[in-house]
Amino acid sequence: MARIVLGVSAALALAGCATEPYPMATPAPEVAPPAPAPSIYDGAPAAVARNELLVCSPLDSNLGPVGADNQSLEYTPYIQTAAGALLRVPTEQACLSSGFGYRTTIGTGSAHTGIDLANPNGGFVFAAGDGWVASEDYRGGYGLVLELDHGRSVHTLYAHLNEIDPRLHPGVFVHAGQAVARMGRTGNATGVHLHYELIVDGVKEDPLAYGTPYQTAPLAPGAQVTEVGEPAPADNALGAPPAQASAPDAAPEALPDTSGDQTPACDPNAAYDPNGACAEAPEQAPPKP
Ligand SMILES: [Zn+2]
Repeated sequence: MARIVLGVSAALALAGCATEPYPMATPAPEVAPPAPAPSIYDGAPAAVARNELLVCSPLDSNLGPVGADNQSLEYTPYIQTAAGALLRVPTEQACLSSGFGYRTTIGTGSAHTGIDLANPNGGFVFAAGDGWVASEDYRGGYGLVLELDHGRSVHTLYAHLNEIDPRLHPGVFVHAGQAVARMGRTGNATGVHLHYELIVDGVKEDPLAYGTPYQTAPLAPGAQVTEVGEPAPADNALGAPPAQASAPDAAPEALPDTSGDQTPACDPNAAYDPNGACAEAPEQAPPKP
């Protein structure tokens, strides 16, 4: 009799064991596929290379030449660099609120090492080009900062960010135009804007003026510059002897961004030497203090 009772309880126990795995097994498959966390960056709009850049206010300092319609006359959509073309304005919508170099109407007057692209509504910030995340961290007055390495010693830096795509970490590859962050005002910022820097060979360059067709031309043989300058040396203001009889009437093409940059001790007559100092003069255009 006792054997029968044991037999029944054992059978019940077995039945229990037999039925238990099923309820445990059913939820497992549902947990197994890790639900990919939806990211706002997946649904972000694509970066657009706009054909013009408006200044926020013509009264802002250090904007460079501005046209009658408040458009930056220096602006071109892409920065030509050794690492390829980079977006000159890697934001959704923004106006230029501050240029590169020494500025006087903001703060106490200091060297500004990038350009400011403002939008009170924020918006996405895009990778200016293909590259790798070099760093993403908080840097005091810069606030939340993302720095990308585009190769060939070309970096871009994005500061005052509201947030960075949490999936980005040093070494992660990003595609040109990929939404990587959101504009903010972290750190020392008076309003929502992107502080955008271009760093080439460790030197902070003007993201608005660097790598325009005008400036990259002298990097080639330099022939274009000499051809333009030959008919009429436009830089006689430097006191260069007018060795040539050509009348100073045919002004060279109205190339932008030469204002205030005539400081290089550059004899226009020496410009005919592609390797001379004048050939490199346009490279010094970014007004660095
Ligand atoms: Zn700035």
